[in-house]
Amino acid sequence: MLRTANDEKSVLRDKDVVEGMYINGSWEVSASDHKREVINPANNEVIGTVTEGTVEEVDLAVKAAKDAFYKKGGWKSTYARTRADYLLKISSKLEERKEEIAMLETLNNGKVYGDALEDVEDAINQFQYYAGLATKPHGQTYEVPDEIQAMVIREPIGVVGIIVPWNYPLVMAAQKMSAALAAGCTVVVKPSTQTPLTLIRLFEIIDEVGLPNGVANLVHGSGSVVGNALINHPDVEKISFTGGTATGKQIMRDAADNLKKVGLELGGKSPNIVFADADFDTAVDYALLGIFAQQGQVCSAGSRLLLEKSIYDKFVPELVSRAKKIKIGPGWDEETEMGPLISKSHMENVLNYVKIGVEEGAELLCGGKQITEGDFAKGNFVEPTIFTNTTPDMRIVQEEIFGPVLVIQVFETEEEAIELANGTDFGLAAAVFTNDGAKAQRVIRQLQAGITWINTYHPTFNEAPWSGYKQSGLGGDLGTYGFEEYLYKKQVNIALEVKPSGFYKG
Ligand code: NDP
Repeated sequence: MLRTANDEKSVLRDKDVVEGMYINGSWEVSASDHKREVINPANNEVIGTVTEGTVEEVDLAVKAAKDAFYKKGGWKSTYARTRADYLLKISSKLEERKEEIAMLETLNNGKVYGDALEDVEDAINQFQYYAGLATKPHGQTYEVPDEIQAMVIREPIGVVGIIVPWNYPLVMAAQKMSAALAAGCTVVVKPSTQTPLTLIRLFEIIDEVGLPNGVANLVHGSGSVVGNALINHPDVEKISFTGGTATGKQIMRDAADNLKKVGLELGGKSPNIVFADADFDTAVDYALLGIFAQQGQVCSAGSRLLLEKSIYDKFVPELVSRAKKIKIGPGWDEETEMGPLISKSHMENVLNYVKIGVEEGAELLCGGKQITEGDFAKGNFVEPTIFTNTTPDMRIVQEEIFGPVLVIQVFETEEEAIELANGTDFGLAAAVFTNDGAKAQRVIRQLQAGITWINTYHPTFNEAPWSGYKQSGLGGDLGTYGFEEYLYKKQVNIALEVKPSGFYKG
């Protein structure tokens, strides 16, 4: 399919129309009259306007969600098969609108259209997957002394506050929402202020399929107002958050006051280890994809390339030469392999890390600059950037840059590779490239990371759990494990003979 400039424009609405919040089954504009413009990062043009909620509006959304959960015949006690039917309807409607929603994601986030389409397809599959699980939170019975029948039943935990970042605006919310709704929880979702548009379309679908009022609510606004109000709300039972590690730590501190449950999917600085015996072309290819996919704005990006010394002289020139050939442009252009960064301020942060790297004494092999020729000057485009001659203590090695910046670390032995790989506070993802199967298995078992690959980078599946080690997270999303995050386990002990305990003698 050939995409044209008309395709990109046709999914946008008039930017003077203020897009609403979805609270208790109706679209609302905030009483505060506070609005925020939504920007296309490829040219920094305004592509929409969104109303932003207040603490009072968060309260209304939470009240609606609480009522929808507890009331007689509410979502908690709705037959699981009925909940599954709603999720399947949402999935079908998403399928019908997938090209429109993918293009909107491209325009709002900057990601290339093919990646945006994959995101929407993932979201479609998440609603299907969790519709399938809705009917399967089985209870268990336990072998205990004869006079008691012990069992565990699973119950939805209540109102869940869902807070998501800008790098996967639709899919991060969809994976949490589909699991929580399938489990019988009700939700209040806060998108990133930078990327609210595709979630508005998802909620239009939710409205169309007639999900009961209050079961799913959408409140726009900043982390400091809307996010904070959700975290501090006594009726929100759990916060399911994806975002930066610093924000995750703050959320955990804030949630401590009322011991709210938190699920945290956080940042990373993931090692991609290439041994000398790896298939050369495959390893070069995935070293590029690991870091430059979605401009490096991926939590699990392979932002550290750990290279065995004996292949350094062959590997690095090829890597740099191919990095320089990556086609950069707006995400809707079919030729584009790498799009813009999300915002001017994020681009400045990334470029500041380049400056830090140079000041720390690392060697810049390529990139490091904003692209300013012609139309590129309007957007937030940064060249693919590679540093070498790094040391483990450098900030560019330790800190998440979240942009197209790769740092190379060199090792000579398997032990050294493992030590370098585990040498940051993060523990999200890791990869090993080698043709020695035993070595691959050995190394993977030593890596402190929740998501790992052997001879590939990035593929992950809704069926398998996603969670970080160390400071990359707490709890997890996806798969059956992600489903369990939204279920309490209640122990029920039944006396098989009804009689007093006999403990008190008097
Ligand atoms: P942030 O942590 O800045 O923001 C994430 C969300 O939290 C946004 O909606 C933000 O709102 C909100 N928020 C910010 N501060 C608070 C607060 N004090 N209380 C409540 N909510 C708050 O992350 P980014 O949006 O910049 O996303 C990038 C980060 O996300 C990276 O670190 C990346 O690694 C991580 N990430 C992790 C994933 C994983 O699965 N482990 C997957 C994807 C991303 P606002 O709109 O105001 O910014």
